[in-house]
Amino acid sequence: MKHNFGAGPCILPQEVFKEASEAVLDLDGIGLSILEISHRSAEFQRIMDEATSLVRELLEVPSDYSILFLHGGASFQFAMVPLNLLTEGKIAAYLDTGAWSKKAIKEALNIGEVEVVASSGDENYSYIPKEYIVSSDAAYFHYTSNNTIYGTEVFDIPKLDVPVVSDMSSDIFSRTIDFTKHDLVYAGAQKNMGPAGVGLVIIKDSLLGKVNRVLPNIFNYSNHINANSLYHTPPVYSIYVSMLNLRWLKAKGGVEVIEQENVVKARTLYEAIDNSKLFKGTAALEDRSRMNITFVMDTPELEAAFLKFATERNIVGIKGHRSVGGFRASIYNGLSISSVNALIDVMEEFEEQIV
Ligand SMILES: *Cc1c(COP(=O)(O)O)cnc(C)c1O
Repeated sequence: MKHNFGAGPCILPQEVFKEASEAVLDLDGIGLSILEISHRSAEFQRIMDEATSLVRELLEVPSDYSILFLHGGASFQFAMVPLNLLTEGKIAAYLDTGAWSKKAIKEALNIGEVEVVASSGDENYSYIPKEYIVSSDAAYFHYTSNNTIYGTEVFDIPKLDVPVVSDMSSDIFSRTIDFTKHDLVYAGAQKNMGPAGVGLVIIKDSLLGKVNRVLPNIFNYSNHINANSLYHTPPVYSIYVSMLNLRWLKAKGGVEVIEQENVVKARTLYEAIDNSKLFKGTAALEDRSRMNITFVMDTPELEAAFLKFATERNIVGIKGHRSVGGFRASIYNGLSISSVNALIDVMEEFEEQIV
């Protein structure tokens, strides 16, 4: 067994892999594969209904928000959000906390006017800007809740009087969401919700219908809401496996329970990094992500040696993104504390050999 710290697509619970594989041959004993059933069948309708109600229950989504499962992952939302919300003549406010924020900003700029209210690009995105002003005239405010590449996470945002949109791709379902402060939340599934191939969108219904531009039908949230995510063939299998994963989460006790586990997992690993002479965390202490733990060593030679050492001991997926270097241990919901401890053991073993 390998300990998979990959950033995404990533580990899911073993039980989910097992059930997902069984359904490929026979879905719940109906004599058909999940891969061959119609997306209009009663069987799939039940899956879609359960997936939707699990999202609503686990995240405590208020009843005036719609829940959508859409193709295109998070990047599709970089375009869909401004197309649907960036009213003509208004400006969208974006917080720039890293590569994914920048991609979202770039896409919005294709559609309308954007103001970047603050950026941590001056220090290679190692912290979250706290002092910024969002004009009460803005069409909406957009931020990335967890910066998968840089290992920083936004734990609090101001209560704003403009709609707040958040890309929660890499921390959705890892902690509770305050819907009094969020109007639209989206996420690619493959970091914490399920396999690649689907995106989740949770949107307050009253946000819609305010832009005058002619939208391609496929980009129009209202079309997807009116069709209950069946405007066209949805990613059936990705939705099914996401549903299995959310069932697993519910059986575990839900988001508040996993949040406490995630706090413990992250604290344990950060403590090991802070107590070591060889490893150094890269993110500002108060902004350290609970999902993606980034750390470096003093020289590229040491880093290469540790990577080899860890790989030989079944620790995989820890190489850092090229823009930060070093290491990134992604410790999503599906990764158990025993894998975190296995990584710490390997770090300590390496340190004993070197120092
Ligand atoms: C991975 C990631 C994305 C990109 O998701 P896709 O589904 O590949 O489009 C966007 N934002 C964040 C925060 C991510 O971690």
